[in-house]
Amino acid sequence: MSRRIMNTKERASLAAKAKNIKYAKLRRDAYFLSPNICKNCGCPITPSKNQNVCEVNRKVFCNHKCSAEFNNKNRAKKEKATYSCACGNKVAKAGNKCKPCTYRYGSIYENDTKGLLIERRKYGVKKSSNIL
Ligand SMILES: [Zn+2]
Ligand SMILES: [Zn+2]
Repeated sequence: MSRRIMNTKERASLAAKAKNIKYAKLRRDAYFLSPNICKNCGCPITPSKNQNVCEVNRKVFCNHKCSAEFNNKNRAKKEKATYSCACGNKVAKAGNKCKPCTYRYGSIYENDTKGLLIERRKYGVKKSSNIL
């Protein structure tokens, strides 16, 4: 009796295994019909023999090299993304002036800006010390 149950259980698990294998194969076949494309090199990302298709399905790159390359490219792009000064020259931050402009305006409004800066600084210190 117990042996028979065991057999049934075994058979059931075997059937489940077979089903799983079948589904895994189906999933695999389905995946191969429309594989993920590597964001870096554009190659289809294919699972290796013992790799789960679900796992590969989440992948965006075919390998670590591509992922690193892509990230490097993106980083370079981000670094390259520059803002331009009113004159059209590129500057690192939005609202920044390019060097020629800084020098130009600096030379024209040197006294004014310096005076304003000192005044603001004074006021800021005064204000914060008052709060404290
Ligand atoms: Zn790739
Ligand atoms: Zn400028």
